[in-house]
Amino acid sequence: MRIVLIGPPGAGKGTQCQRLVDLLKVPHLSTGEMLRAEVRGRTPAGIEASSYMDQGQLVPDQIIVGMVSRRLQAPDCRTGCLLDGFPRTLIQAETLDDLLERRAMSVDGVIELAVPRDELVRRMLARKREDDDPEVFSKRIASFEVQTAPLLDYYTGQGKLASIDGLGTADEIFERVRAAVKRFERAAWTR
Ligand code: ADP
Repeated sequence: MRIVLIGPPGAGKGTQCQRLVDLLKVPHLSTGEMLRAEVRGRTPAGIEASSYMDQGQLVPDQIIVGMVSRRLQAPDCRTGCLLDGFPRTLIQAETLDDLLERRAMSVDGVIELAVPRDELVRRMLARKREDDDPEVFSKRIASFEVQTAPLLDYYTGQGKLASIDGLGTADEIFERVRAAVKRFERAAWTR
């Protein structure tokens, strides 16, 4: 299964991704994690990316797309993967479809973790992670609403979107995630 998880910052994607990779036994491709590793390693890509990340802005596609495309070609991704943080824009979604199509692959399903904005802000204030500067956090939410939300229509048009309620306990939400995966599996069999 090749699944994309989409959600605004603070939606609880990290927790659900962890559980989902355990369930699906596929690698977890988190572009946020990949970028943070580049930043820590002080690579040229990391140095360029950090100035955008520090301001809550999206890193340019030329950095992201190369990174994801190399990772997708690794042998462990042959049977599937969980994409987290990519695609984040319509152009990235189209690029991903092209990348996969060239290898006779496709996205099987997209899960949106839907959480209202006031709840995101409340969670951010409660957890106070060091990268959660309130101003940067608001910019990341705004970037999600402007740049990432249009992806939902794109995947609805492809009949691949499962929008699930991101409010509740981690267990309750994971049950919804699991039900969505079952639907993707059924759809994949009938394609
Ligand atoms: P979030 O908590 O918003 O889910 P991530 O850990 O996924 O954050 O990403 C952290 C930062 O890395 C983003 O704010 C952005 O600057 C950059 N980033 C991650 N993925 C992408 C992407 N697909 N395109 C552009 N920038 C990205």
